[in-house]
Amino acid sequence: MQFTELGLRAEILRAIAEEGYTEPTPIQAKAIPAVLQGRDLMAAAQTGTGKTAGFTLPILQLLSTKPAAARGKPRVLVLTPTRELAAQVEESVRTYGHYLPLKTALVFGGVGIGPQIKALKGGVDILVATPGRLLDHVGQRTVDLSGIEILVLDEADRMLDMGFIHDIRKVLALVPKQKQTLLFSATFSDEIRGLANGLLRDPQLVEVAPRNATADLVSQRVYPVDKAKKRELLIKLIDDHHWHQVLVFTRTKHGANTLAEKLNKADISAAAIHGNKSQGARTRALADFKSMKLNVLVATDIAARGLDIDQLPHVVNFELPNVPEDYVHRIGRTGRAGASGHAVSLVCIDEHSLLRDIERLLKKPIEKVLLPGFEPDPSIRPEPIENGKRSGQRSGQRSGKQGGQRQGNAPKPSTPQRQGKPPQRGGPARGNAAQHHSGSRHR
Ligand code: AMP
Repeated sequence: MQFTELGLRAEILRAIAEEGYTEPTPIQAKAIPAVLQGRDLMAAAQTGTGKTAGFTLPILQLLSTKPAAARGKPRVLVLTPTRELAAQVEESVRTYGHYLPLKTALVFGGVGIGPQIKALKGGVDILVATPGRLLDHVGQRTVDLSGIEILVLDEADRMLDMGFIHDIRKVLALVPKQKQTLLFSATFSDEIRGLANGLLRDPQLVEVAPRNATADLVSQRVYPVDKAKKRELLIKLIDDHHWHQVLVFTRTKHGANTLAEKLNKADISAAAIHGNKSQGARTRALADFKSMKLNVLVATDIAARGLDIDQLPHVVNFELPNVPEDYVHRIGRTGRAGASGHAVSLVCIDEHSLLRDIERLLKKPIEKVLLPGFEPDPSIRPEPIENGKRSGQRSGQRSGKQGGQRQGNAPKPSTPQRQGKPPQRGGPARGNAAQHHSGSRHR
């Protein structure tokens, strides 16, 4: 199928062609006709599938053909869990809408509200927002959601994981009942279905194979190594293999900072990206990484979610995630768009049970490679993982059928530990959620 067969107007086709795309991805081929028909949509699709264009292109088409009911008020609202995703979605809207006279605005926390107010005052057609800051604007009456014709919930599962359900419900109460709603989620969990039930009308269901679930193009490898030697091993791997663009995952923000510092000291240009960094620093780090000014981006899970980095060749798990599904999300950062990728995990004795949980989820063992000089010392005994979530997490994974049910489907990080509850140290979802909330409340 070609984009030209989808009934999109010439201005949109031109913008798509300029991006170099000719064929719609599977999610686009299914979603675009349904949205153009005005149907609600419930789509299981992750970042990397082309989902953003899947909703953006038909929305642009609909807006440009239907006159606005009310002047100046936003007609489309896209809600996203993170600032990075919001920024990427808005950029896509601007790219694909380049030849259309539609206005977009981007609203998220952690940055000054003034410029956003100014942008909103100028009149907006498409508003892309994270929930907390959007409600700040509602509170200040700087946005009026009563003209929303199309609502998009992007990465709805992650919004629920981050504890945004109340904010979402508040937003739902502010938008008109009569509207088209598009819900995108990595999985259709019970929670998502619950949200969808009250919200979607006779939705078209669209499910595409998550390209990162099995990620056949991604070679996976585990290097067993002592914790104290992980850094040295990472530096050796980067140097020996001349890796230029490596996304490295740590479990904590502190770990990300320390590792980035040490890599820089070893003459490997690196930056850390996580929820405690200012928006400017995060945007800069991402831009530098994309343009290969930086060799290494060290990220926590939540910061990496939604990062749109094309054809990332290497992903390294400096530490395994507490939630096995996050491993799948992480390695999904590589091997995108048909390119082959490599995912490497540095695993110390403390993490063996996490590795077992991951292999159980993947339903296959991951190749282990012992590197001379880095063989684990057999006299070292395992210690509990610092953030104290491991035991609860593991029992959660083992109890009942839930983990098994999820295996055949797209992964869903849905354990109670992920839902924004203390105590914590750098838990992936929480870090950013908490920051987001404090960011929006204290202004
Ligand atoms: P998304 O899943 O929306 O984050 O998109 C993932 C990546 O695929 C982005 O870099 C898009 O620019 C790219 N992309 C979107 N649509 C297409 C397409 N039809 N053909 C090739 N690449 C695409």
